[in-house]
Amino acid sequence: MIFLVLAVASMGLHRQINAQVPPNSGEISSRKNEFLPNNSKLEVEFVPDAKSVVIHLDASSIGEESETGNGCRHLMEHLIVLGNDGKLDERLESQGAFLTASTLRDGLDISVSCKPSDLALGISALAEITANLNWVDSDLIREKGIIDQEIALQNSADKLSGEAWQLAYGEAGANPIGDPDLLNKVTVSEVKLLAEKTFVGDRLAITIAGPIKISDAISAGEGFLKRFASQAGTNEARTKQKLPEIGSVDASGSVRAEPVSGISDESTAATLAAGLAIASTFSDSFFIYTPSDRGSLVVVGSQTTGEIDDAIDSSDASDVDRLFARGKLLAKEYVKHEDDHSNGFWRAYLLAQNANDTPEVMLSRIATLTIQDFRKGFNSFRKDHAVTVDGNS
Ligand SMILES: [Zn+2]
Repeated sequence: MIFLVLAVASMGLHRQINAQVPPNSGEISSRKNEFLPNNSKLEVEFVPDAKSVVIHLDASSIGEESETGNGCRHLMEHLIVLGNDGKLDERLESQGAFLTASTLRDGLDISVSCKPSDLALGISALAEITANLNWVDSDLIREKGIIDQEIALQNSADKLSGEAWQLAYGEAGANPIGDPDLLNKVTVSEVKLLAEKTFVGDRLAITIAGPIKISDAISAGEGFLKRFASQAGTNEARTKQKLPEIGSVDASGSVRAEPVSGISDESTAATLAAGLAIASTFSDSFFIYTPSDRGSLVVVGSQTTGEIDDAIDSSDASDVDRLFARGKLLAKEYVKHEDDHSNGFWRAYLLAQNANDTPEVMLSRIATLTIQDFRKGFNSFRKDHAVTVDGNS
């Protein structure tokens, strides 16, 4: 049986894959990159058979889990999309355009899809979002209430993964969805300050994909991006805790998780391939990975408590070697699928963090993986090395 992957954005906080759809294969005619003087990045892609234009604006995080309290960026995401009158999404929908926003582990993604002839409308929506920072307390209170509900609605995979992040990275692994007690203390001026630090050239990337002329998309993207000042900031690398770690959380299922560095690191590709290979060995598995230059985590889980532990710890050297080719193939498919599936999200998210980060870099690391790399990747998930979180419900 071939194991394939389907991307599911789970509460917008990470990408989660459960099972089984082949990568789609839209014919890509051309793609062009631009780096602006303010250090913002732009990538446009001509997709002749697409019905709409999809614009993604991504901003890399400022490491605010220690600076402004956990969840402040999530609150900012809710507030910025309100637009000038609190009704930006309704105004867009009335013109056949759609707005989405997600808070991710190390970035913020805002996306507008619209008719190819409405590129200017999409860009102006993003301009409104990044310029309107005038919220009032009642906006804050309402959105905090919504986020409290989102926190309460986290599924088992989210909870297990969230706990694994905390065990792997301590405070720097705080869940970007937020902590209700800390969120409660956040003020309008703190969110505004975070937005001002976030919307600077150095942190921003935009991708525009659709059946549009490359030159039109470039000039629209440039016109939008050039308004932001350049302001270099440091993205502090996360410090790994001493591992192994074992934890439990009120959820069902189990995860194993292994810290990884940026996508250009060979061992990240090995861990990705090993994690996907492990997930392919049983049916109710899930896999969660959000690339990060600050330090990330590859999470493999089972919906049945303890199942993942057996799958990993009972594998001997020959079991591992047998999974090598499959792991490599799955990693390749995973990267291609995320890239194809997300209409520029994956590229914008990577670019916002680092101008050198592209799916092609990931694919080249996967292509040169050796069986020795893969063995290391697999063994890093064993109980004596990794983070283990078991659900207790
Ligand atoms: Zn939310």
